[in-house]
Amino acid sequence: MSESKTGRPISEGAEEELGKVYKVLNLGEVELVDYLGDDRSVARAARTSYQRSEGKSDEHDKRLITRLWKDRHTSPFEMVSLTFRIRLPIFVMRQHVRHRTASLNEWSFRYTECPDLFYKPEVDDVRGQHTTNKQMSGEGLSPEASKEAKEMIEKHNSASYEAYQKLLKLGVAREQARVVLPVSAYTQIIWRMDMRNLLGYFSLRLAPDAQKEIREYAKVMAEIVKKGWPLIWEAYESPPPTGS
Ligand SMILES: Cc1cc2nc3c(=O)[nH]c(=O)nc-3n(C[C@H](O)[C@H](O)[C@H](O)COP(=O)(O)OP(=O)(O)OC[C@H]3O[C@@H](n4cnc5c(N)ncnc54)[C@H](O)[C@@H]3O)c2cc1C
Repeated sequence: MSESKTGRPISEGAEEELGKVYKVLNLGEVELVDYLGDDRSVARAARTSYQRSEGKSDEHDKRLITRLWKDRHTSPFEMVSLTFRIRLPIFVMRQHVRHRTASLNEWSFRYTECPDLFYKPEVDDVRGQHTTNKQMSGEGLSPEASKEAKEMIEKHNSASYEAYQKLLKLGVAREQARVVLPVSAYTQIIWRMDMRNLLGYFSLRLAPDAQKEIREYAKVMAEIVKKGWPLIWEAYESPPPTGS
């Protein structure tokens, strides 16, 4: 194998993350499969404003990146992008596609059969409806109710997959047979987002009012950003400007 050479900016942290498969939920996965740009790509893009490219030191870059984020001068953050492979249940996928600034490609259940992969919660993760917030879940249910709920979900997943297989055996086309699949079925996407909008995604999907299952995915991706783009992450976590 020939040694690959590149003139592109490389992030050592991101290089270490490439190809690592992180487990999420019962059968989900997140893997960084590609990226463009490092911390300094943001600083370099911003310096175009005054026709310079390189900073005097890492410390200068760090201060500049933090300043940019605080001042909402966000376009330089679009110079960095990350591409993930994500295996996720359809109900989490539906939340992901709302982030319109991402580019994505999804498994096609017209071309291929849906695999027997379904989300089910752990017993201690079955949650009741929140008492005041109409959108959120609240406290856990009793152990008995949680166990019953989990078993119902498992049975429903199995029955749906059985019906799907029967329809395929009857000769029904894949694109039509899939109508019996529940939103707990896992799908897979290649999902590319620029850093500006990825940070926006984190603001929304790491927040306590986001659904726990998508939060789990956002947490894993945030950890990857923290390792590969530490200065950007630090800027993102720095206190917001007052009066904005
Ligand atoms: C807790 C929570 C609950 C939600 N509940 C619902 C719900 O009940 N129903 C529902 O349909 N959705 C719901 N959503 C999805 C939500 O409305 C957004 O679609 C989603 O969070 C994506 O956010 P975004 O538009 O900022 O991201 P992106 O689509 O990635 O856009 C990033 C930014 O680009 C700009 N932008 C993108 N598209 C446009 C555009 N067309 N016009 C102008 N500017 C644009 C905006 O500045 C935007 O913030 C919910 C989201 C959260 C976090």
